[in-house]
Amino acid sequence: NTFAEIDLGDALNNNIKRCNYVKPTPVQRHAIPIAIAGRDLMACAQTGSGKTAAFCFPIISLILRNRRGWSTVGGTRMANPLALIISPTRELSCQIYDEVKKFSYQTGVKVVVAYGGAPMGYQLRELERGVDILVATPGRLADMIERHRVSLRSIKYLALDEADRMLDMGFEPQIRKIVEQMGMPRPGVRQTMLFSATFPIEIQKLASDFLSNYIFLAV
Ligand code: AMP
Repeated sequence: NTFAEIDLGDALNNNIKRCNYVKPTPVQRHAIPIAIAGRDLMACAQTGSGKTAAFCFPIISLILRNRRGWSTVGGTRMANPLALIISPTRELSCQIYDEVKKFSYQTGVKVVVAYGGAPMGYQLRELERGVDILVATPGRLADMIERHRVSLRSIKYLALDEADRMLDMGFEPQIRKIVEQMGMPRPGVRQTMLFSATFPIEIQKLASDFLSNYIFLAV
């Protein structure tokens, strides 16, 4: 019933301690072991439930664990992130970015955030400096993909946060286009976590299209 009991690795566990997180919230207690075990996940969780850490901790931990043996693609200006976190708004993306930054402190994991309504130049320069985890809103990411500035070929971990809100905002075409870039869901190739406050038919459809042999979690 403490984070220390979950095998997240020393570096992440130290950051969790440093940030005074001791006890996982219910969604964290259930989602983190499922994700660490490599399973796809559909989680119904509300804002304030601690859902951000529920998908950020496994992503950071898995990247640190599997880093050895991975190579970066040199000689190209296309960014090749290993993990992608998609969220509906600039505010939420920045909150997720802050959380990932805090918990990947001194691990060498590189995080970049990209959102619309702001110039693309700075975000592109950050991407060019290298990125492990990209946090992005759907419109801006689709735009960057269209301009061949980001490649999703290397994505091993994908998280979609507040999926119901993204559909309400009309982002389904962009989200489908983004996920199509990564190819069909294949166990062992890409792991996907879908978070949503509600689970209507549209989200069930998204889950069956994007996830492979997934575990359903409602807290
Ligand atoms: P979220 O639902 O992800 O937006 O998180 C809600 C708030 O709870 C944020 O301010 C988090 O920093 C905080 N929080 C999340 N998980 C924990 C935890 N296990 N222990 C203490 N605070 C937490």
